[in-house]
Amino acid sequence: MLIPGGVNSPVRAMKAVGLDPLFVERACGSRIYDADGNEFVDFVGSYGPAILGHADSQVTAAIAQQSLSGLSFGAPTALEVELARLICSAVQGADEVRLLSSGTEAAMTAIRIARAATGRDKIIKFDGCYHGHSDALLVRAGSGGMTLGVPDSAGVPGGLAAMTLIADFNSIESVSRCFATAGSAIAAVIVEPVAANMGVVAPKPGFLSELAQIAHRAGALVICDEVITGFRLRFGSVSQMLGIVPDLIMLGKIIGGGMPIGAVAGRRELMDLLAPAGPVYQAGTLSGNPISVRAGFQTLKLLQAPATYQRLETLGARLEDGMRAALDRAGALGCVNRVGSLLTMFLGIDRVENAADARRADTNRFAAFFRGLIARGVYIAPSQFEAMFISLSHTPEDIDRTIDAIGAALKQTP
Ligand code: PMP
Repeated sequence: MLIPGGVNSPVRAMKAVGLDPLFVERACGSRIYDADGNEFVDFVGSYGPAILGHADSQVTAAIAQQSLSGLSFGAPTALEVELARLICSAVQGADEVRLLSSGTEAAMTAIRIARAATGRDKIIKFDGCYHGHSDALLVRAGSGGMTLGVPDSAGVPGGLAAMTLIADFNSIESVSRCFATAGSAIAAVIVEPVAANMGVVAPKPGFLSELAQIAHRAGALVICDEVITGFRLRFGSVSQMLGIVPDLIMLGKIIGGGMPIGAVAGRRELMDLLAPAGPVYQAGTLSGNPISVRAGFQTLKLLQAPATYQRLETLGARLEDGMRAALDRAGALGCVNRVGSLLTMFLGIDRVENAADARRADTNRFAAFFRGLIARGVYIAPSQFEAMFISLSHTPEDIDRTIDAIGAALKQTP
């Protein structure tokens, strides 16, 4: 093998579902095509960025035009300022934004700012949430960590892992317990406002606002990781709708239109801690590169069209209803968690509110179900612990065809 495990990111492996990874040749709209010529309705959407569907003609035209003027300069461009203006106008609590190249960098940077601002070292993260692969955050991480059954990575210094306290999503008691043990040492709580890396799990009413109150009372900051939810569930961030204005917000995926990007945004006095304005060092050769910025800017402009999010909600509801009916018809135990265009069908369990619940799902059954979907031309992430992503290119017919495939796959593997 020339690439470890054959993949450049572990979630792409299909070991957990007993298949070889899908080698993709191309994708267009709601469809993706593998190297063997098979066509699939795609619900992976590059794990979030492809909200318009694949290869949107206006985004690819903007990228092509930009590429003729140069690929990266290592110097500021006017378009970066335009993208920053658009992001700050849409994301509540964002006075300033720093563009980076990945969500992982966004988490590293947000935590560094929080530690500098508070003079404290510890952070709280939630079991099953994923914030990229930096050392301090690979502790009980969701996404590939959960799929592969390796919640803690080798190679993370014990001292660093000890800086991370773990709470349970949707359990305010567990947050209080962390603060009771280490309150004055906690710099920040980092959370996905809608968890999407243990499968989709919505926050219970009041959970996020109570969490923020407890954190702020103890002098800690709140970092909302909106790498998946940002510009997906509404135009901007979703945190305030769910009851909190975070101190720092992480963004990624959609704001880069399918090209590498990440971002940290927040209050001016926190953001101005970043070099060269302040003492917190953070840098990147390709940060804010014109291709990512052009792709992201064009994507956000298109998302501003009327009824964008209503359309995604309608498609999501149609798929959710169809999945529930399919579970009923197959007489199968399972549940569907959905927030807007993000959803997960958990098999073998009737309710999932946190990572411990999600781990009780029947992953063997999921593996058979996944193979049944692939055989019927529907591509979802090869893990029980990921979201399905609906795009604006999906049609009601795509959804109905998917529901049929789900019904047939469930019947085959009850
Ligand atoms: N935060 C969340 C919520 C994510 O889902 C991801 C990636 N799936 C990241 C951070 C890390 O982003 P990246 O893969 O761009 O480093």
